[in-house]
Amino acid sequence: MMANSQPDASGGADRLEPPRIAVIGAGVAGAACAAGLLRAGFDVTVFDKSRGVGGRMATRRVQWADGNGTVHATSFDHGCPYFTATRPRFQSVIDRAETLGYAARWRQHVYATFPAPRARQVVVPTPNMPAFCRHLLSGVPLRLGHAVTGLQQCPGGWLLHLADDHTADCTEGPFDQVVFAIPPTQAAMLLRGHQNDWADALSAVRIAPCWTLMAVTDDLDWPWDAAEVERSELAWIARNDRAPGRQAAAGLAPWVAHATPAWSLAHLEDNPEQVTAVLRTALGKLLTGGHAPRWHHASVQRWRYAQLTRPTSDGLDCWSRTDLGLGVCGDSFGDGSVEAGWHSGDELADEISASFDAAPPASVEADLELEEPVH
Ligand SMILES: Cc1cc2nc3c(=O)[nH]c(=O)nc-3n(C[C@H](O)[C@H](O)[C@H](O)COP(=O)(O)OP(=O)(O)OC[C@H]3O[C@@H](n4cnc5c(N)ncnc54)[C@H](O)[C@@H]3O)c2cc1C
Repeated sequence: MMANSQPDASGGADRLEPPRIAVIGAGVAGAACAAGLLRAGFDVTVFDKSRGVGGRMATRRVQWADGNGTVHATSFDHGCPYFTATRPRFQSVIDRAETLGYAARWRQHVYATFPAPRARQVVVPTPNMPAFCRHLLSGVPLRLGHAVTGLQQCPGGWLLHLADDHTADCTEGPFDQVVFAIPPTQAAMLLRGHQNDWADALSAVRIAPCWTLMAVTDDLDWPWDAAEVERSELAWIARNDRAPGRQAAAGLAPWVAHATPAWSLAHLEDNPEQVTAVLRTALGKLLTGGHAPRWHHASVQRWRYAQLTRPTSDGLDCWSRTDLGLGVCGDSFGDGSVEAGWHSGDELADEISASFDAAPPASVEADLELEEPVH
């Protein structure tokens, strides 16, 4: 790749170092974008407000004590439970992750009322959901536990304002380019005042919330890996230990259950104890058809932004203004899936690389002029 010869947001001077790029968001879109930019030779840093990577591809470890005071632990894939890979470029990334042990194909037996019970092939990162993003991000400097709270133009490009739980706000930069790989509402807030047409378009995107129940029962004779549910507060239930690379302690069954978007929205501000009680009852009915199973653990997670219901409207895979030093990617540029998020981030990395490669750096042109002709 190139040295920096693009006009940066400040009109900064040409220089020999690779352009500095900040990617905000370490979900699959940000990870795909950062991986592509690193491969192309950019100086890229990823920022995320969470302490881990993966975003909505998440796994949580939960502990509880039984009646004898013995502590047990299990993990739940409480966000995205699996995904599909349909496009050749994404399939080849999954093939490589599978070879290296970061993903597995899963022939999932799903109960659905219509059509009849079926099997389908899906992909699951191993040994947990964030493993795939960790794999994509290997070699990329990470700044985790820092929410980006503001964006400021300065003579060298863009400064990011950061906040965390412990220290006072600070700034980091300047960066030649800033990539937004965060949910649309947050991206719109940061872009307002800098790129208002993008902020307006992102404000029109809709992502439905989801309350997720994480529960452990006695082991049950349940023939499915997962079930699509109707006429219930719940839309989807899965036995987490049936996914590749997951385990449960002997005699126990870990469950993840997603409430419907409508129920989640109606109860978005309810207190977690109430939500746990309602969803646990709903899961119990579905599992045993009446008598309650023996519960060992139950807790909930509220996803304020879970699954896309209205995508960006222009049909583009991402937005890029390398002249301004700004770009946006994420699953809302597609169908709200992991694959769409990966594709959007990968596409944005290509667009940024192409725009820098299109204009050879002034320093390189000067070197060429000094070279002796070869006879
Ligand atoms: C309950 C649930 C079920 C799902 N089911 C499926 C499914 O079956 N199949 C499927 O393909 N997809 C599913 N999805 C959707 C899938 O998880 C997403 O499409 C995908 O993970 C989106 O990736 P992303 O990188 O675009 O965004 P995200 O994963 O949301 O990543 C954004 C990142 O930005 C960070 N961030 C946000 N604001 C800031 C800030 N100000 N500063 C710094 N960092 C910030 C967040 O911490 C996060 O890590 C599901 C999601 C949920 C929650």
